[in-house]
Amino acid sequence: MDISREGIYNLLLDLVKIPSVSPGKGETLIAEFIHDTLRDLPYFQKHTDNLYYIPIPNDPFSRKNVFAMVEAEPKTNRTIILTGHIDVVDTKEARSLEEVAFDPEEYTKRIKELDLPEEAAKDLESGKYLFGRGVMDMKAGIAIQMALLAEYSQNPKNIPINIAFLAVVDEENNSAGMRTAITHLAKLQNQGLEFVACINSEGVIPKYPGDTNRYIDIGTIGKIMPFFYCVGRESHVGQYYAGLNANLLTSAVNMILEGNPEWAEKWRGEVYPPPASLKQKDLREIYSVTLPARAMVYFNHLTVTSTPAEILEKSKEVATQAFEKAINHLEQSANEFSKKANTSVPIPWKTKIITWQELLIEVSKTFEGELDNYIKEFINNLPDELDERDKSLATVGELIRLYPDKNPMIVVGFLPPYYPHKTNKREIESEKKMLAAVEEIIKEAKDEFGEILAISEHFASISDLSYLGFQGEKDELVPLALNTPGWGIIYDIPLDDLLLLDIPVVNLGPMGKDAHKFVERLELDYSLDVVPKLLKSLIQKLS
Ligand SMILES: [Zn+2]
Repeated sequence: MDISREGIYNLLLDLVKIPSVSPGKGETLIAEFIHDTLRDLPYFQKHTDNLYYIPIPNDPFSRKNVFAMVEAEPKTNRTIILTGHIDVVDTKEARSLEEVAFDPEEYTKRIKELDLPEEAAKDLESGKYLFGRGVMDMKAGIAIQMALLAEYSQNPKNIPINIAFLAVVDEENNSAGMRTAITHLAKLQNQGLEFVACINSEGVIPKYPGDTNRYIDIGTIGKIMPFFYCVGRESHVGQYYAGLNANLLTSAVNMILEGNPEWAEKWRGEVYPPPASLKQKDLREIYSVTLPARAMVYFNHLTVTSTPAEILEKSKEVATQAFEKAINHLEQSANEFSKKANTSVPIPWKTKIITWQELLIEVSKTFEGELDNYIKEFINNLPDELDERDKSLATVGELIRLYPDKNPMIVVGFLPPYYPHKTNKREIESEKKMLAAVEEIIKEAKDEFGEILAISEHFASISDLSYLGFQGEKDELVPLALNTPGWGIIYDIPLDDLLLLDIPVVNLGPMGKDAHKFVERLELDYSLDVVPKLLKSLIQKLS
């Protein structure tokens, strides 16, 4: 393992060869490969305590992160973290070539057997790209970081700062790796380490067709998932106006929130996409000629400034508007209908919005026994095949069953996962220092390599850099936990540790295209020749 182009390339092939599809056993295997490869370095032969696993608690695949650190001589507390994820998404899209997707050279040779999009065909023709699962997202970044660590380990006297390397699992799934790692980082910080910066090397993609810029991200986007669990009133379709169709409520929510540009967040001229519903369904399993009484919709919302507390308030407003919209719709309908039928049709429904936290409090007033234990047992008895979101929603359903007030309502809360945003606000010293270093790198890239690098305010594809600190107060974060059904059982972020961290972040990684698709590819020259040098220089400048 060395920092030459060939050294990085060969390590990349070795890393890709291990099919570390998330979630799965392959992630454990690649963690072991990385650990063992580093263990063979003379530095870690000598400093065995500086290389270890961080196991994911209660993990069905016994997955683990790898942590390694080369300590500068003379001793210092100042530390830079290099980090990246070692899992990949699956290869179903590669169809007949699925088996070779983990063998990039073979895959690149044979990929023309598949029907290639025009740009991918052109890139293949150019000979400048390597295709394969995980080549750009993000095993090239991992290979570069490992090679850098190996180089630093040869002479710790040459580095003014400790270099830590943190390889995490499960990024493509629920980020269990990084959510586990933050507790470890907080512990190291408590023991005296000062984390100066965290550098990720996620693959970077062009921002628009024909974009020739390279990007360096000085922040990472946040993601939060508000849900709206709608309770109507069932009624035989023959007595239409006696019921309230829960599907009408979710539809009203969707009409208000889906693609709502008022929600689109903005930072220094960059505007981010509005919310999108990821799932909307009624919760009845059987066919029936009855108006459905329960339905839900949940959304993905990307943040660069909003906190969970703000999103909760805004979600309550959306629910209120939606409920009123649904009642209006019914009143208009009833009005026309009564004229037509020459009869009077009252619409009795009143808007009622309740958060998950409020629902818990209400139910606990009449529940006999320990509600917390009851919920825990309820969740533990749910079928394993339900994902985190479905388990959370089933928990809401159970609480509604226990709630004596049977009036129609919309329950508002959050579903996992949550990724806080990290925005470089140019406010604190460490942010300013990061920006200055990045500006120097941009100049260097142009002067020395003829590469045009541009600052991107946020890595837009969601990254684990999210978990290196929360930008806000505790009371802006805590509503997330209080309003996520099954928090601590189904899903968890160690919030106290998250609040302890405030590590400036940056993403400087290889360039590629079409992450997660079958034409995922790495641009070789820039990625293997230029990025390692820029990374080394960035580390130098941040030291
Ligand atoms: Zn990635």
